[in-house]
Amino acid sequence: MIFDLLIRGETIHDGTGSVAPGDVGVLGDWIAAVGAVEAKAKRTIEAKGRVLAPGFIDIHSHADLAILREPRHECKILQGVTTEVFTSCGLGFAPVTPQSAPLQRKHLSALFGEPPPGAEWRTTKEYLGSIHASVNSAYLVSHGALRAAVTGYEDRPATRDELKAMRALARESAEEGALGLSTGLYYPPMTSATTEETAALAAEVGGFFSIHVRDHGRRMFESLDEAVEICARARVPMQVSHLQAVRMNRGRAGDILAKLDAARARGLDVTADAYPYDAGSTMLSSVKPEEYDDIPWGHAFLVSDGSLIGTKARAKELSGAYIVHDRTEEDVERMFRWPHLTVGSDGLHTGGRPHPRLWGTFPRVLSKWGLEMIPKMTSKAAARLGLKDRGVIREHAAADLVLLSNPRDRATFEEPTLPPEGIDLVVVNGVVVAEDGRHSGAVPGRVLRR
Ligand SMILES: [Zn+2]
Repeated sequence: MIFDLLIRGETIHDGTGSVAPGDVGVLGDWIAAVGAVEAKAKRTIEAKGRVLAPGFIDIHSHADLAILREPRHECKILQGVTTEVFTSCGLGFAPVTPQSAPLQRKHLSALFGEPPPGAEWRTTKEYLGSIHASVNSAYLVSHGALRAAVTGYEDRPATRDELKAMRALARESAEEGALGLSTGLYYPPMTSATTEETAALAAEVGGFFSIHVRDHGRRMFESLDEAVEICARARVPMQVSHLQAVRMNRGRAGDILAKLDAARARGLDVTADAYPYDAGSTMLSSVKPEEYDDIPWGHAFLVSDGSLIGTKARAKELSGAYIVHDRTEEDVERMFRWPHLTVGSDGLHTGGRPHPRLWGTFPRVLSKWGLEMIPKMTSKAAARLGLKDRGVIREHAAADLVLLSNPRDRATFEEPTLPPEGIDLVVVNGVVVAEDGRHSGAVPGRVLRR
C-alpha cells in the first residue's frame, strides 16, 4: 500500500488521554494505519518526537459569516482547529425569511460583520451549501434566527401558532444538517422566549443543545436553574456556554460547578465549555439597565479602537463590541479542571482589536495547563456532538491532525491577531492546510452531519 501522507516518529496523543510513540499513515481523507507503519508514501513527514494529536474542535465559535468571507479561516486553522461549531449563543443567520435576514444582519453586525457581497440564502440547507472552507463546520440551528423569522424582534412570548411555526423551521433545519440547537436567552429576541419555548425547540431539533444563560450577573444561579430545567424538559444533552464567574460572582466557580454537578447527579447530561482568559467580550447594545451598575467599566475597552470605556455614563453613549476584565484566573483554572469541560473559543470576528481568544485559545490552554488538556479539545467535544469518527487518532477515523512542538499563544489584548507558535502542521480530511505557521490555501473542510 502507498499512503498519501505518512507522519513518522511522533508521540501520539490519541485524543482519549492515551499517549504512545508511533507513526500515522493517511489514505485519502482517512487514517489508514497507526503504530509502527512500514510502507511507502507520496509524502513523508519526519516528526522527530513531536506530538501528534487529533485536530482541535472549537465547540463554541461564531464563524457564521467569517467562514464565508475568509474561507481560509487562518485565525483558527493556525491554532490547529479543524472543526468549527456554530451558531453559538443562538446568534445566527439561517434559516431566514426576506424580512428576518436584514434584521439579523443589523442586530448582529457588531459581532459578526457583514456577509460577503452577493451571498444569499434562506434555508439552513442553502446556507450550509454556501460554505467552502479550510475547516469542517458543525452547525447548530439558531434560536434567534427561528424567533426573528416568526415573531421578529417583538418583546413578547410566542403564541401557540408561532411556536408551531418555529418548531417546523427547527425540524427542517435538523433534517438539513443541524446537529442541535443553540440559544442565548441574554440576547434579543431570545430574551422574550420562555423556558417552555426554549425546551420545545431544543427537543424538536434533538442532538446537542448549547445555552448562553439568561443572566451571568445578579441572577446567575436562577439562570443556571432555568438551563437545567430546559435540559430536564427537553431531555437533550446540554452544554452551558462559556462558563464564567463574573462581577458579584467572582470567586464562585466552585458554587457554579457544584450546581452543574448536582444536575448531573440527578441524571441530567450537563456539560460546559470555556475559554482561558480573565476577560469576556460582547455587544454594548445588549447590556441590560441593571448591568450598567455591575459591569466594571474601569476595566472595559472598546473593540473598535482599544480605548478605555472607563465609566457607566460613557458606556451608555458608546456602541459596538467591548472587552471587559471581569473574572479571576483562579476561577478560570478551576473551570478548566472540571472533568466535563470542553474548550470553546467564543472568538468574535469584530474587526478592530478583537478579544485575543479568536487567535489564541487553543495553544493558550495547552501552554497554561499542558497536553493533558487535549481530550477537552478533541474526543470529549466529538462525543458531545455525536461525531463518531472525529476527535481521535485511530484507524478509520477522519484524518484531522495537528503536529505540535511546545505550542504557545502570542495573541494579546494589545496585539490580538498574532498567530501562535508551535502548531507545526494542520491536516483537515487528509489535506495539509497549514505547515510551519503558513496556510497552504487548501479548503478541504466539510459540513459534518450526525
Ligand atoms: Zn454567548
